Amino acid sequence: MSRTTDRITADRIRLSVVGIGPGDYDMMTGRAIWALSESDTIVGYQVYTALIQDYFQGKEYLTTPMRQETERCRLAINEALEGKKVAIISSGDAGIYGMAGLMYEVLEEMKRESVQPTAVPDRLDKLKSIVIEVIAGVTAANGGAAYLGAPLMHDFAVISLSDLMTPWTMIEKRLLACAGADMGIVLYNPSSHKRHDYLQKACDLLLQTLPATRVCGLVENIDREGTNTKVCTLGELREIPVNMFTTVYIGNSNTKIIGDKMVTPRGYQI
Ligand code: SAH
Repeated sequence: MSRTTDRITADRIRLSVVGIGPGDYDMMTGRAIWALSESDTIVGYQVYTALIQDYFQGKEYLTTPMRQETERCRLAINEALEGKKVAIISSGDAGIYGMAGLMYEVLEEMKRESVQPTAVPDRLDKLKSIVIEVIAGVTAANGGAAYLGAPLMHDFAVISLSDLMTPWTMIEKRLLACAGADMGIVLYNPSSHKRHDYLQKACDLLLQTLPATRVCGLVENIDREGTNTKVCTLGELREIPVNMFTTVYIGNSNTKIIGDKMVTPRGYQI
């Protein structure tokens, strides 16, 4: 029995928002496995439903293309209203650049719509009985860190280089603020077809204040086919082509290379 579900009474409709981890089944939390096993319908982006389909058979899988996140949430809620036990999935953790926040927002929006005179009677009551249950997953940052060694032993920040929803000027501001505060930085979305040079742009900005020798690392395809790890300097990172399935790590001033691993000291006396 899931602890969160324990608290949900029979008259409520449970809708799980599940982080499935970086890729491999064995990186999924027990609670995520429980929620997916219990569900009738699993909603997600096709790349992610494909990762789990073999392990959760006999379920109804509903997919929507990339960039149709709002439609995906509406679909999940409508399925739940029909009485199905629904799980909507995100890779990694659903609450970190995933679907969790949007699910809460879309549910509120659907409640507002159902107040309209033209809305189906009882719809609002049904929507009100939905309880969103967010189930934590291993996010790319700590999934990849384990491959690199121990890069996140001290304070760090996670910054997405995607400027689809955040203006680039704000991304620059955050990068410089973290560099100025000597924080480790994890970069998500370092590249895409349209943004192939964004990691270079970020490195150039950081090189204005950080030394080119700063220890960095990257992990491609964490816990998926073709996992690839590299430890390098900030100067070298600038020259490395990355794809959208890469997570990038920029160390703090104490981060060092031990053997072939990236290690940020916690500060213990040895
Ligand atoms: N919710 C996800 C993040 C989605 S944003 C999570 O918690 O992990 C998408 C970005 O996450 C990618 O561009 C990449 O930087 C990172 N990422 C997600 N899964 C990854 C994987 N298996 N390997 C490497 N990077 C990954």
